[in-house]
Amino acid sequence: MTVLVLGGAGYIGSHTVDRLVEKGFDVAVVDNLVTGHKAAINSKARFYYGDVRDTSFLEQVFTTEKIDSVVHFAAFSVVPESMRVPLKYFDNNTAGMINLLEVMERHNVKQIVFSSTAATYGEPKQIPIKETDPQVPTNPYGESKLAMEKIMHWADLASGIKFVALRYFNVAGAKADGSIGEDHHPETHLVPIILQVAAGERTELKIFGADYPTKDGTNVRDYVHVVDLADAHILALAYLAKGNDSDAFNLGSATGFSNQEILEAARKVTGQPIPATMAPRRPGDPATLIAASDKARQTLGWQPQYDNIEDIIRTAWNWKQGHPQGYGEGAK
Ligand code: NAD
Ligand code: UDP
Repeated sequence: MTVLVLGGAGYIGSHTVDRLVEKGFDVAVVDNLVTGHKAAINSKARFYYGDVRDTSFLEQVFTTEKIDSVVHFAAFSVVPESMRVPLKYFDNNTAGMINLLEVMERHNVKQIVFSSTAATYGEPKQIPIKETDPQVPTNPYGESKLAMEKIMHWADLASGIKFVALRYFNVAGAKADGSIGEDHHPETHLVPIILQVAAGERTELKIFGADYPTKDGTNVRDYVHVVDLADAHILALAYLAKGNDSDAFNLGSATGFSNQEILEAARKVTGQPIPATMAPRRPGDPATLIAASDKARQTLGWQPQYDNIEDIIRTAWNWKQGHPQGYGEGAK
């Protein structure tokens, strides 16, 4: 079975490509390396350098490869940037999806697994968040992803392209052997920023907001290890291959950790003091995001292997220590 992974040079995409190869899938990757790294792609996957929005490029890939299913990670995902330049997000994410689905229609490819996000829910009405809860994004990034979910729904009704939307909560960690990991420029996510401080690359962590209605006043988030997340994509491909209907699944651990707790866990794992100061709230941050993800467990058979936040952080630290410069300058 040949799987085309769009965005397979990125953080989550590269771990998924790696797991697909390990499990014997034939894998092709499309990526324009805007945030990804060629060095992150498993060498057994075929790599096509290009943009999802480029119709003739994508046509060429679908003509060259005999694609059975698509896994779509290629997107921009930095919330504050999306507030400043929303059209960049609707162009890359939402218009990219339209182009992809049109090419899939023309080549009769009928299955897609899609990276959605907790950001499609916006400010939750209840915790834990269920898949059936209202989706009211509070930023253009979440809106661009919700639009992609809706577009897939209508494309399914019209041309039978079945989809699984996986709504990730917080993702962290790296492959256990430390060979691939997270490397974003600039880095915006909490765990890799904390580890940059631990490694002496930053002087301190700024914790955005200490006055939320949570256990210690800092935001609470639900973390999943990136390899467990990758495995959920493989289960979603199997779900679609069995002829099941389109659906959406939350991917979380059902356990929340506050930003302060993540900091404490990282101090323990790294043995470093990791100085931190309290800073104003980051606009658009809900107080608490925790997923109800029993649906993914029951329907897809998802069984995350990492259930301990220190173990998750330890894998990220292992990657960081082995790759102080990430994939390195010019390693695109
Ligand atoms: P990433 O930036 O590391 O990976 C995205 C990849 O897509 C990169 O390799 C980039 O070069 C590529 N890309 C982007 N636009 C492209 C285009 N037009 N054509 C071809 N390639 C393109 O991001 P990530 O953290 O791995 O996230 C992957 C997906 O998961 C994203 O869609 C994101 O919205 C979603 N997501 C991530 C998180 C998280 O915590 N990291 C949480 C929820 C959802
Ligand atoms: N955060 C923080 N300092 C940072 C980066 C992030 O306090 O330098 C907080 C952020 O405000 C949020 C949590 O860490 O409460 C997780 O943020 P991240 O960007 O990692 O993921 P998000 O929850 O936005 O998807």
